[in-house]
Amino acid sequence: MTTTAEPQQYQFQAEITRLLHLLSHSLYQNREIAVRELISNASDALDKFRHVVLMDKQYDDGEELRIDVLPDPEKRILVIRDNGIGMSREELIKNLGTIAHSGSLEFLTKNISDNQNLSLIGQFGVGFYSSFMLADKVEVVSRSYREESGWRWESDGSGTFVIEPEEVAKRGTEIRLHLKADMDEFSRAVRLQWILRTYSTFVAYPIRVGEERVNEQRPIWVEPKSQVTEEQYKAFFSFIAKRSEAEMSWYMHLTLDSPFQFHAILFCPTDNQELLGMGRIEHGLHLCAKRVLVQDNCQDLLPVYLRFMYGLVDSADLPLNVSREALQDNSVFRKIRKTLTKRVLGHLEEVATNEGNKYREFWLQYGPIVREGIAADFENREALAKLLRFKSSHHEDKTALVGLAEYVGRMKEGQTEIYFASGPEVRSIERNPNLEAFRAKGVEVLYLTDPVDEFVLNNLYEFEAKKFISIEDGNAKVSELKTGDTAEKPEEQKPDDKVPDGFDRVVSLFKDALGERVEDIRASGRLTTSVACLVSPTGAFSAALERVLNAGSTEFKPAKRVLELNPKHPLIDRLISLANDAENVHFVKNCGQQIYANLMLLDGVVPDPHETADRMLNFMNELAQKR
Ligand code: ADP
Repeated sequence: MTTTAEPQQYQFQAEITRLLHLLSHSLYQNREIAVRELISNASDALDKFRHVVLMDKQYDDGEELRIDVLPDPEKRILVIRDNGIGMSREELIKNLGTIAHSGSLEFLTKNISDNQNLSLIGQFGVGFYSSFMLADKVEVVSRSYREESGWRWESDGSGTFVIEPEEVAKRGTEIRLHLKADMDEFSRAVRLQWILRTYSTFVAYPIRVGEERVNEQRPIWVEPKSQVTEEQYKAFFSFIAKRSEAEMSWYMHLTLDSPFQFHAILFCPTDNQELLGMGRIEHGLHLCAKRVLVQDNCQDLLPVYLRFMYGLVDSADLPLNVSREALQDNSVFRKIRKTLTKRVLGHLEEVATNEGNKYREFWLQYGPIVREGIAADFENREALAKLLRFKSSHHEDKTALVGLAEYVGRMKEGQTEIYFASGPEVRSIERNPNLEAFRAKGVEVLYLTDPVDEFVLNNLYEFEAKKFISIEDGNAKVSELKTGDTAEKPEEQKPDDKVPDGFDRVVSLFKDALGERVEDIRASGRLTTSVACLVSPTGAFSAALERVLNAGSTEFKPAKRVLELNPKHPLIDRLISLANDAENVHFVKNCGQQIYANLMLLDGVVPDPHETADRMLNFMNELAQKR
């Protein structure tokens, strides 16, 4: 602890120096966000002080908590003052000289270098530094509520800052911006009033520009929906999410009067930041009781799988001053959570039904988060199941997405199961020989290109009493279905069709060759053109999912699969004739092994490379000799 009266110079953390350089040289248009950030900091400081007073009455001096914006056009100075919690010397150094999460700052500096994403800064806990977009010198004069005098912090944003003692009469913080020559608009009261007008209604404390109060209105969440404009919603989103208005995708405004009372506005941003690699989303909703902020990122108001929503919930029926734990036990709180969840899911279902394209955008962004709900939220899993989207064999356009209700709606007569195929990408799924039977009968198959989707379907188990079955499942009831009227019309082939004489001999040679690697070998009723396919025992994971599980654990033992052969395929037909002759036994066995190796390759698994390469070479040799 230092008590020196001399000014002391400090170095900014390296990341901050870099950020300041970017900010002061940016051509960013939207510079009024700097004013908003400073107002937001002032409002936070007032919230904190109000909380202090709630806990300890001795600090209550009865003064109005307020924010003053004082422009001085002659000196080209803008002052923003609050009588909030204030900062001690140590707090000034820590809060305005270092950044807690320098990792996220690295992300930020990379992403704002093009001047495009500067509005991101508010989310990174670095809003204060945006003042260097407006000013070439910034002074922060502050006195902590715990101290008798104050400090002055000063910097020109070029790498260092100075701190010295200053007599400060009252608790709070004053930010003095010495505006750059071309930023004099920010020293004009009219311009500042304009900037603050929409924004200030969300701040719970009076804001005055000079003598004039800019926020007389009631906050928008207690107003009826019809009274609130689109612009106000956008501005509120920007305030709450600290993101630009253009990043608001949609909102919901809810009011409930009985059996308990609450107002809520919820927002969904356009982009899922988890997809950008920013880590798990951890903001929450603002929780107010009678317009007074109780918690500013309450993560318990919505389930984890809706963590991307921003918003504010205000209820007159909530206790003002309780711990987080006590709040979770509060019955009104729990009911609010339940209602909000149902309303959000209901809204999504409505969008999904009525605005397909809009929903598609939503799903591409948030699908990976929302589907977590299937395993986590038993109560709402039906509603969640309706929200799931998958690629499918139904559409020519392989990027098209289908929902389960849509799938069930066009199921074939007599179809009782929902079929899916898994693989790393649509192209490889479409080469899966197991698909042939489904294609032949015109039966739709969902394409699961993300292994998580298979977990989700396994977890869901069924939809509208139709079980999810992998196309690789040996018991898929597809062969019992009538042939569809598709272009590809194969000969009707039932599993109990008589297999040609000599087929069993081929099977037994293949069994010798493959041994323990397969569960069984038999004639297939599902193939039309391919020579063979692998099918899994009922309930087993698909090959694609097994591969993922396999990569994650050495304990995991994949289920053995059944090799099904197409007795009508010319190769099998020929092998049947060859198998009669003892001289060909070795060749037939080799063919069995190569057929199996090919299927592994189609599944994305590499068979023993040496063995496979040698065998291929032998095949070529034999062919070459016969030419
Ligand atoms: P953020 O506000 O997102 O945390 P900032 O860079 O804007 O990031 O501010 C850093 C910290 O400085 C704040 O967390 C707060 O502790 C402190 N601070 C900023 N402005 C004020 C203020 N007006 N009064 C008290 N503390 C403040």
